[in-house]
Amino acid sequence: MRLLLVEDDAMIGASLRTGLQQFGYTVDWVRNGGAAESATETTEYDAILLDIGLPGKTGLESLAFWRKRNNPVPVLIITARDAVSDRIRGLDAGADDYLVKPFDLDELAARLRALLRRRAGRANPLIEHGALTLDPATHEVRLDGQPVNLSGREFALLHALLEKPGVPLSRGQLEDRLYGWEEEIGSNAVEVHIHTLRRKLGSDWIRNVRGVGYMVPRLP
Ligand code: CA
Repeated sequence: MRLLLVEDDAMIGASLRTGLQQFGYTVDWVRNGGAAESATETTEYDAILLDIGLPGKTGLESLAFWRKRNNPVPVLIITARDAVSDRIRGLDAGADDYLVKPFDLDELAARLRALLRRRAGRANPLIEHGALTLDPATHEVRLDGQPVNLSGREFALLHALLEKPGVPLSRGQLEDRLYGWEEEIGSNAVEVHIHTLRRKLGSDWIRNVRGVGYMVPRLP
């Protein structure tokens, strides 16, 4: 899962980025609204964490920019303003959720999971697909009830594919999900992770759609 963090405060930004990376998210961090808007032109994010008080454009102006273009990306506002009217304005401007600083990182992570679940149209907090179960909260994967040990990247890859069984994701889309701007990507990194996942789960769980990408097949 790839997040865009929009936060001008250096200390808060750095600690949020590190914390979210520890939860397994890929995080791109920008410090103003203009940079946030350009980032969304080139990268597809799973969610945006948006500060309101930013230099130049306010967070609410960037939010309006995305919603006017009908960009459905889930947006969680993080701000020091705790006036009720600000919260209402943010939600009515198209935000999906709201946290007032200072907040607990575990709560932020839980709210993000809820947002991503709603976006995927899922009511069940577990992702269940036949004999395979993935828990986004604990990062546990089970096959026939038995735990499967996956690396962070393998987990992220499987998570992306399991969100949309039967829909192939290209190598580029998968790289976008796994790697942020500042990370070096080996030319066959995705293939290597797919190979290991197949070895750990069994090769039938991930299908190569020639010339298109990879998918978890729909259940028969
Ligand atoms: Ca700020």
